[in-house]
Amino acid sequence: MVGHQFHSRFVMHYAGHKKWTVGCTECPLKAELAGADIRRGRGGQCPCANNPNRRFWTKVNATDNCWLWCGAKQSDGYGSFRVGSGKTALAHKWSWEQVFGPVPQGKELDHVCRNRACVRPDHLEAVTHQENVARGNMPSIVRARGYAV
Ligand SMILES: [Zn+2]
Ligand SMILES: [Zn+2]
Repeated sequence: MVGHQFHSRFVMHYAGHKKWTVGCTECPLKAELAGADIRRGRGGQCPCANNPNRRFWTKVNATDNCWLWCGAKQSDGYGSFRVGSGKTALAHKWSWEQVFGPVPQGKELDHVCRNRACVRPDHLEAVTHQENVARGNMPSIVRARGYAV
C-alpha cells in the first residue's frame, strides 16, 4: 500500500485502525483515509485541488516544523492571501479552514507555535479572544508545552 498513488495523493504509512496517512504531491496537507477507500480511489481529491488552493501552497515553505508563509504579509506579521475580486484572507485562517471548516463563531485562531507567519493547520487552535490574549501574555507556558517559540 505504501507508495500507492491516486490523483495527487500517495500513501505514506499505516496510521492504525485500518487507516493510512496519505500525502499530496502538490501541497503539504496530509490526511488519514481508510484502506478500503484508497483501494477504490476514494478521497483522492486533496483540498488543494480547487483554485485558489493550489496557488496558496506555492507560497508556503513547509519545514518539518512550521509551514512558513512566503507571500504578502500584513504589518502585524500575519500572512494575507487574495482569494477573489479584491478580497483578502488571512493566510493561516484560510489554511485552517481548508482542513477543519469555518472557524466557529466567537472563536479566533491562536498560533500554538507562536509564529505568526506559520500556516500549518495543526499549529493553530480555535480559542476565544480571552484565551488568546491570556496565552499571548504567557509565552513561558507555551515553551513548557514543548512547542518552538
Ligand atoms: Zn494537496
Ligand atoms: Zn507553526
